Parts: sequence; structure tokens; C-alpha cells
Amino acid sequence: MNTEVSIVRCNSYDPEEVKKALSAALEPIGGLDWVTPGMKIAVKVNMMTRIKPERAATTHPQVVFALCELLKERGANVVVGDSPGGLFSSAYLSAVYGGTGMRQVLDAGAALNEDFTTVDVDYPDAVTAKAFPITNYLASADAIIDLCKMKTHGLMAFTGACKNLFGAIPGLNKSEFHYRYNTHEAFANMLVDVCEWCKPRLSLADAIMTMEGNGPSGGTPRFMGAILASFNPHALDLAGAHLMNMPPDDVPTLAAAVKRGLVPARVQDLKVFGDLESFVIPDFQLTPKHDVKLWGTKNETLAKILSGMFASRPRVAREHCTGCAECKKVCPANAISFRDKRAEIDKKKCIRCFCCQEFCPQGIITVQRPPIARLLNKR
Ligand code: SF4
Ligand code: SF4
Repeated sequence: MNTEVSIVRCNSYDPEEVKKALSAALEPIGGLDWVTPGMKIAVKVNMMTRIKPERAATTHPQVVFALCELLKERGANVVVGDSPGGLFSSAYLSAVYGGTGMRQVLDAGAALNEDFTTVDVDYPDAVTAKAFPITNYLASADAIIDLCKMKTHGLMAFTGACKNLFGAIPGLNKSEFHYRYNTHEAFANMLVDVCEWCKPRLSLADAIMTMEGNGPSGGTPRFMGAILASFNPHALDLAGAHLMNMPPDDVPTLAAAVKRGLVPARVQDLKVFGDLESFVIPDFQLTPKHDVKLWGTKNETLAKILSGMFASRPRVAREHCTGCAECKKVCPANAISFRDKRAEIDKKKCIRCFCCQEFCPQGIITVQRPPIARLLNKR
């Protein structure tokens, strides 16, 4: 198990500072020496939706630009891509490339992905997802670089390198996955399976501006001033969760990766290059917890009933709803309808996947924990 993580300070998205910091982050773990001329490298960034880089929901284009420059200097063929929540199509991605400022990478000699084909893969070694469709630009690359944005996440608590690779699953297939893997544990195991299948050659995190609170899109940008690098995506996530002052047990993907022996359980067991502790934000605002582990029952039926009673749910601040229907488009359970042109959620139909919370452009859908659950647990 590779436990090395490198972290360096980067105080702004100034082009020179970013490139310098990125090179410095790569240096102690062996840099880009593995990159050879002509190698096809797919850079999987977070372009979750058409949202400006200042909102801190997507990987900042300046970090992507700097990485592309470093890769081009080594003679690699670089393609930058993602498959966000909408259709995996040229028209939709063209709007996302423009909206996120990602077209800037063309000036570094990289390409933006224009291959919208997909392939079905079998993964018999998977714990949960033994077969799934995947975007071809990633499947056909010689190497994948996972360049994530570090943020809170309504469903998975934290999104970093592992969760970023959910964007390897093409477009609307992702909604179906919420139905198929409908517990936190199953969903996290599926994410770890996809991440392990992709086997990113290198994982990097843009944690210069992170997002706290109602992430991954409706939260508040928070300055952290860091770039992280690791050859192990789960090690990078363990370090990242620590920076947000988030216990690793609260991150389902980390818990799943620990169980499989992919990462140590404690951040202290990572080999860190850089002063990790100096980046920790003690009052980082996290999303509410989903589970309540207090009654210790081994009775599964009772546990299910209690967990239903105490479960977090999405809540729409209807007074601020613009009626844009983005939430309805991504809801896999068809649980959203409109009254007086404002969204409302049918609690009985809702499977608590938090896709609506993730994609509401106004950030007015939040994760709500029943008051009694808040009383019983810290978050
Ligand atoms: S209402 Fe929101 S949380 Fe509930 S199923 Fe639909 S998208 Fe998921
Ligand atoms: S996405 Fe947000 S603003 Fe748009 S209809 Fe749904 S709740 Fe309202």
C-alpha cells in the first residue's frame, strides 16, 4: 500500500504560483517521471455542472492548465474530461466546458474530450459493482490522472479523489446507480470499485479554495491554500478529510477503502511530505451526518425503522425556488413535482440520494437532519 501524500501551500490561482506549487507537490513523490512522449493521458477533472470557478464547486481551470503544461512539456497527449450529471453529449459538455472556464486548457496544448462513446466493462474483482458502463476516453487512455476538487458532499460527506471518479460513469447512468446501490455502504463500495477499476496513475487535489457547508455545489467557498498529490487516491482523501477536521469514519468511501486494506485507518499512518497540520481548518462546516449509531441494536428490521425515522432528508427552501426544474431532471425516483411553480419533494418516493441537493443551481436544497437526531449526535 502506497501511503505517501504530498501537500504544499498555494495562496492563489495566479498562473505562476499554481504551476510552481503543483511542481513542488509532485517533486517528493517522484513527479511526472513516469510520463513518456506520446502517452495518452486522460485528466479527469471535476466539472460537475455549468458553474463558475469562483463558486469552488469544480476543479479550478488554472490548476488543470498548469498540469496540462507540465504534461505537454514531457510530450504527452493530454485530454481533459468529465461526465457530469446531465447527458454525456457534445452539446451538454460544450456548455459545461464554457461555463466552468475549462476551455482555457486548449491554450496549454491539451484537448477537451470530444469522444462521447462508452464501453461496458466487467470487473469480477469488485466488491459491489461487478459490471458497469464507462466513458471511453478514460477506458482507452494509457493513464488517468484524477484531478479533484476537495469539498463537502451531501450524500458522501466528503468528495475528493475517489468520489471524483464517479464521473467515469456516463451521464444519466449515474441516476440509476443511486437506485441500484441504495445504502451508503453499497454506494461507497461502488465508488471504490469504480475508482479501483480506473486505477488513477496519479491523484491531485485542488484545495486552494474548498467548499464547506451545503456541498458539493451549494456550499460556501473556503480558503485552504493547498495542493495535494499522491499515487493513492484513498490516501489523498484521508489527508483531505483530516484537513476539513472530518473523522475518517464519517466518510463512507474511506471506511470502505480501509476495510479493503487500500488505505490506513488513521491519518497518522500516512507518510506525509509537507506540514499537513498547518492546513487543518478546525471550524470547517460539514454537512449533517446521515447515520445515528446510538441504539446499538443488532435487529436489522428495528435498525431500518429507526434509521428511517432519524434519516437526513433533502429540504427545499421553496420561497427561493426559481422553478428551473434542474432538480426534477436528476431525480431518479421521480419524487419532485411543482406546486405554484415551486419544487416540492414527495417524501414517500424520495430515496435520499441527494442528487437534487447536488444539482440545484440556487443551492436552496439542503440536507436536513431531524432535530432529535441532531440532539443525539453532534452533527
Ligand atoms: S428528491 Fe432528491 S434526494 Fe429524493 S430521490 Fe429525488 S433527487 Fe434523490
Ligand atoms: S433546482 Fe432548485 S431552484 Fe430549480 S426548481 Fe429545483 S429547487 Fe427550485
